[in-house]
Amino acid sequence: MSKPRVAILGLGIMGGGMARRLLSSGFPVAVYNRNTDKAAPFANTGAFVAGSPREAASRADVIISMVADDVASRGVWLGENGALAGATPGSVLVESSTLTVGWIRELAAVAAQRGLELLDAPVTGTRPHAASGELLFLAGGSASALATAQPVLAVLGRETVHLGPTGSGALMKLVNNFLCGVQAASFAEAVALIQAGGLDRAKAETILTNGAPGSGIVKRVVASAAANDFTPNFHLRLMAKDLGYAIDEAAQRGIELQTASSALTAFKKAIQQGYGDEDFSAVVKAGGQK
Ligand code: NAP
Repeated sequence: MSKPRVAILGLGIMGGGMARRLLSSGFPVAVYNRNTDKAAPFANTGAFVAGSPREAASRADVIISMVADDVASRGVWLGENGALAGATPGSVLVESSTLTVGWIRELAAVAAQRGLELLDAPVTGTRPHAASGELLFLAGGSASALATAQPVLAVLGRETVHLGPTGSGALMKLVNNFLCGVQAASFAEAVALIQAGGLDRAKAETILTNGAPGSGIVKRVVASAAANDFTPNFHLRLMAKDLGYAIDEAAQRGIELQTASSALTAFKKAIQQGYGDEDFSAVVKAGGQK
C-alpha cells in the first residue's frame, strides 16, 4: 500500500523534527512555515516546500499543524490561503499544537461544514522525541479520523491514546502541562530557598532528584541548570501559554487552578527577565525572587 501524503504546517522545534522523521521514513511530505527561512532547507530533503498552508494541504491526505498557539493555528487553517481552503475530500486534519478546547471545537465545526474531519492530537515528548518518532499522541475525535491519521502518527509516535470526542486530547494536554509547569516553578522556588539557606546546592539537588520529588520535569530542570544550558527544547514562553490556557479551561468549568496561577506568575517573571525564548527550565533562574 502506498504511504499517505502528509502536510506539516509549522517547522519549529517540533514540526521540523516531525517533518524530517516522515521524510526519512519515505513519506511524501509537503511543508509550510510562515518564516520561509525555516522551510527553505527542506527543499534539499525531498519535501515539497509550499508557499501557503493551502498549497501544502492540497497535496496531502493527512494535514498536520504544529504551531505555537490558538492565534497561529487560526492563521494556518482559516482564510483564503489557509489549509482548510486547500484540503481535498477524504483528507483528515490533525491539530497537534497545544491549544484551547474552545478553539479546537470551533475549528472542528468549520471543518465539518466543509465535509472534513479534525483530530486533535497534541503530543507529549520534546525535541528528541519528535525527531526519533517517540511522541505520545493524545487524540480527540472520531474513530474514523483516527484510523485515517494513524499510519502517519505511528511513525511519529510510540503510542496514540484515543481519549474521546473532539477536544479531549487538547484538554488532556493542558492538564499534563499544567502539572509540568507547576513542578518546574516550585522547583525554582526550592532552589532559591536552598541557596538562601546556605545549603550545598548539588547535594540538595541529588537528594531531591533521587527522592520522591524527582519527577522527569524536576530532573530536566536540574540537568539544564547543572550544564548552564538553556537551549530550548520547549520554549519558556510556550509553557506560560499552556498554563494560561489550563487556567482558563478550568475556570470555564468552575475550577480554580491556584497552583497554576502561581506558576504562571513565576514564568511571567522569567519572561520579563528575558528568558522567554530559552528552555522552560530557565524558570529556575528567576525562582523565588520578589
Ligand atoms: P516553536 O519552535 O516555537 O515553533 C512555533 C511554530 O509556530 C513556528 O513554525 C512558527 O512559525 C509558528 N507560528 C507562530 N506564530 C505563528 C502565526 N501567527 N502564524 C503562523 N505560524 C506561526 O514551537 P514548538 O516547540 O515546535 O511547539 C509547537 C507546538 O507544540 C506548540 O503549541 C507547543 O506548545 C507544542 N509542544 C511543544 C513541545 C516541545 O517540547 N517543544 C512539546 C509538546 C508540545 P515562524 O517560524 O514563522 O515563527
